Amino acid sequence: MTVYDQIYYDGAWQASTGTEVLEVLSSVTEAPFARVPRGTPEDVDRAMASARRAFEGVWGQTSVEERAVWLEKLSAAVKARVPQIAEAIVHEVGTALGFATKVQAEFPATMIGLNATFIREATLEEELGNSLIVREPVGVVGAITPWNYPLHQIVVKIAPALAAGCTVVLKPAEVAPLSAFFLAEAAHEIGLPAGVLNIVSGSGRVVGEAIVAHPEADMVSFTGSLQAGRRVGALAGDGIKRVCLELGGKSAFIVLDDAPFEKAVPAGVNHCMQNSGQTCSAWTRMLVPRSRHDEAVALATAQLAKLTLGDPTDGKTRLGPLASAQARDSVLAYIEQGKAEGATLVAGGGRPAAFPTGYYVEPTIFANVDNRMTIAQEEIFGPVLVIIPYDTEDEAVAMANDSPYGLSGGVWAGTPERALAVARRIRTGQVDINGGRFNPLAPFGGYKKSGIGREIGPLALEDFLQFKAIQR
Ligand code: NAD
Repeated sequence: MTVYDQIYYDGAWQASTGTEVLEVLSSVTEAPFARVPRGTPEDVDRAMASARRAFEGVWGQTSVEERAVWLEKLSAAVKARVPQIAEAIVHEVGTALGFATKVQAEFPATMIGLNATFIREATLEEELGNSLIVREPVGVVGAITPWNYPLHQIVVKIAPALAAGCTVVLKPAEVAPLSAFFLAEAAHEIGLPAGVLNIVSGSGRVVGEAIVAHPEADMVSFTGSLQAGRRVGALAGDGIKRVCLELGGKSAFIVLDDAPFEKAVPAGVNHCMQNSGQTCSAWTRMLVPRSRHDEAVALATAQLAKLTLGDPTDGKTRLGPLASAQARDSVLAYIEQGKAEGATLVAGGGRPAAFPTGYYVEPTIFANVDNRMTIAQEEIFGPVLVIIPYDTEDEAVAMANDSPYGLSGGVWAGTPERALAVARRIRTGQVDINGGRFNPLAPFGGYKKSGIGREIGPLALEDFLQFKAIQR
C-alpha cells in the first residue's frame, strides 16, 4: 500500500486540515493500493498563500537561466523515478506497462527538460515604436488535471508555468493522484524554492473549486471533461481570471479513396485504442469511402485482433483495463446505446469473459455508423471505434467537422498535397496527415468545445505570460 498522509506546500510536507482520505483503487485488482489526503479549502488557502509568497519574493524575480537550470534538475529527478511512476499508472489507469513507461513516465520527464530550452529561446522583450514590450509571468497558477495521462497532464501545465516565472497550486485527479506526489518528492529532493510548486489532493467539487475561485489564483489551467470545464470557466470568469481549458474530443480520421488502406486503417485503429481509448485526442471516428467500407472494416477488425487485451503488468499486453468502475460502466452503456441505435457491432461489445476482475472492456468496433448517432457525437473515452461511410470528400470533411469538439484528427490520402488540402479544412487544433508523427514542439489544444489555450512546445509558454508595454 502506498500511503501519503500529507500534502505539499511551502516547501514541506504538511498535514491536511481535514482528516478524510481518498482511496486509490487498482484497475487490475479493484482493490485499494494507495491512499492520499482528501484536502480542504483551508489547505488550498495555505497553499495559495505559499505560492503567492514564492511568486512575489523569489520565483517572479529569478532569471530565465536560473529557472531553466531548475527545470533541468527537476527533469533528472523525475527521470530517476520512471519505474515507480510507470508502476503506479499501470494500476491507477490500467495502462500497459510498456506504454506507461515510455509515454506516461519517460516522455513527461523529458518534457520538463524541454521547457528549459523553450524558455531560454523565448523572446521576452522587444521594441515596438516607442514602447518596450516586456512579457511577464501571469502570477499564481491553479492547475487541475485529469487521470488518463496523470503525469503528462501535470507536466504540460507546471513546466511552462514555472519556466515563465509563475508559481503553481496543483490538484491532481482523484483516480490517479500519485504522480503529483512523486513530482513533489522530486521537487523537494532538488531543493526547489519553497512555495514554487504546491500540491493539494482532493475532490474536484471541494479542492478544485476552491482553487479556481481563490482570490490569489491569477490564472486557472484546467484539463478534464467538458462538463467540469464549463463550471471551471464560469467560476474563473466570475473572478476575471485568465483560464485555459483542455477538454474532450471526438476526433475524426478521414481515409481518402486513394489512400493505402492496408497502412492507413491499422494506423487509425492503433490511434483510437491508445491507452485503451482513454486519450482525449484519440481518432474515435474513422471516415471511409462507402465503396470501400467493408474492406476497411475487415482491415480494422484484423488489426484489433492483434492488440492483446490483458493484465497491464504483463509486457505482452497492449490493452489493459479501464481506470475505474465508473469509466467501465459508462463505456459499456455507450456500447449498448450503439447497438440500440442500429450500428453494426463487428468486434467486441462487452466485458471479456477471461477477465472477471479488473475494469476490462473488450476493444470494440461499430461499422455502418451514422455520424448523428450518439456513439459518433459523444466522447466515449474507452476502446470503441466507430466506422462511418461517406460518399464524397466534401461530405467527409463536413462530417469530420460536425462535432461539438475540435481537438485532433487525421487524414490519409494518396498524396501529401491532397492530404494537406483536406487537413486545412478540418476545424481542430491538430491534424496528422499520412501518418505524421507526434511532435513535442507542436502546440496541442482545442477548437470549439475542446477548449481554450494551447499546451506542449514553446508556444505553450504564451498562456503563462502577459504583456507589459513601457513607453519612452
Ligand atoms: P473530470 O472533468 O472528471 O476531472 C478532471 C479534473 O477536474 C479532476 O482533477 C477533477 O477532480 C476536477 N474537477 C471535477 N469537477 C470540478 C469542478 N467542478 N471544479 C474544479 N475541478 C473539478 O475529467 P476526467 O474524467 O478526470 O478526465 C477525462 C476528460 O479529460 C475527458 O473528457 C478527456 O477528453 C479530457 N482530457 C482532455 C485533454 C486535453 O488536453 N484536451 C487531455 C486529457 C484529458
